[in-house]
Amino acid sequence: MKTAKYYEWRRRGQLQCNLCPHHCVIGEGKAGICKVRKNIDGDLLLTTYGIVSSVGFDPIEKKPLYHFYPGSIIFSVGNFGCNLRCKFCQNWQISQTIPDDINHRKKYGPGELVNMALGKNTNIGIAYTYNEPIVWFEYMVDIAEAAKKEGLKNVMVTNGFINPQPLDELLGLIDAFNVDLKAFTEDFYRNQTISKLKPVKETLIKIRKSGRHLEITNLLITGHNDDTRNFTEMVKWIAGELGEDTVLHLSRYFPTYKMSAPPTSLGLLEEFYGLAKEKLNHVYLGNISTTTGQHTFCSNCGQKVIDRSRYNTWLKGLDDKGRCTNCGQKVIENM
Ligand code: SF4
Repeated sequence: MKTAKYYEWRRRGQLQCNLCPHHCVIGEGKAGICKVRKNIDGDLLLTTYGIVSSVGFDPIEKKPLYHFYPGSIIFSVGNFGCNLRCKFCQNWQISQTIPDDINHRKKYGPGELVNMALGKNTNIGIAYTYNEPIVWFEYMVDIAEAAKKEGLKNVMVTNGFINPQPLDELLGLIDAFNVDLKAFTEDFYRNQTISKLKPVKETLIKIRKSGRHLEITNLLITGHNDDTRNFTEMVKWIAGELGEDTVLHLSRYFPTYKMSAPPTSLGLLEEFYGLAKEKLNHVYLGNISTTTGQHTFCSNCGQKVIDRSRYNTWLKGLDDKGRCTNCGQKVIENM
């Protein structure tokens, strides 16, 4: 356990957590919505500090990040808990439940994880992923600081539902973000995730302005967030506010957890891919076997610069600075 950051004392022994926009007011002995930040004897503690649900080396494409050191591998770490309650959560076993044996699990200090990450010399850094890293903020920050000292990159895969002040702290440490933009209506966020869209949009704008690398994932769920008008509005907003070079991953949904709608059809994914490509230069399809939306093309001359097949990546038309070998256009900022 570790004392949490970003909270304040309220009356009658209650504490208010200000890490995410839920601003949970937490009574003695109770935890916030995320289940892992708990009021113990008048202090807010992160109860899962040092505990991991899984660790391993993944292709960076699996995060997914397609324009950040393409073809590399990254040491990936997950913990427990989440500040959202998505009915379609793909990792609900670690995000929505806390195992009974959690206090007896092996603990990993930040230095130990960094040493594990350094164990493979082709590894570029550490990704905070699998469950929502916002809720294990203090653990992530300690690991990220230790990783940065060793010259490793830090990557965060997140829902973006965080308050501006803690986000500012992360912007000093995290090199690349993949933010899950789950839909483009407040209605969807309220009913399907118990959160709000507006703070997520603010997070995206802040990351973009910070100059940190940003990619977005949108899981398309049959009958829930597949309205053409809303999707077009989302893409227009991304292009206008974040820029037309913003990378967008459209991901196929499969029934899971509390959601039983049928899987997203290939037809819908391809149709929305086409709509997104009208406004954005780099759109990809994920969680599906298809040749559409897999490769990277130069936004200037159209040359194929990266060939992909699942998580295999071949850099074919790029120089060592990430420029197209045909026309010199910068395609990949981080190589
Ligand atoms: S991080 Fe957890 S405890 Fe803090 S406001 Fe968000 S859900 Fe509540």
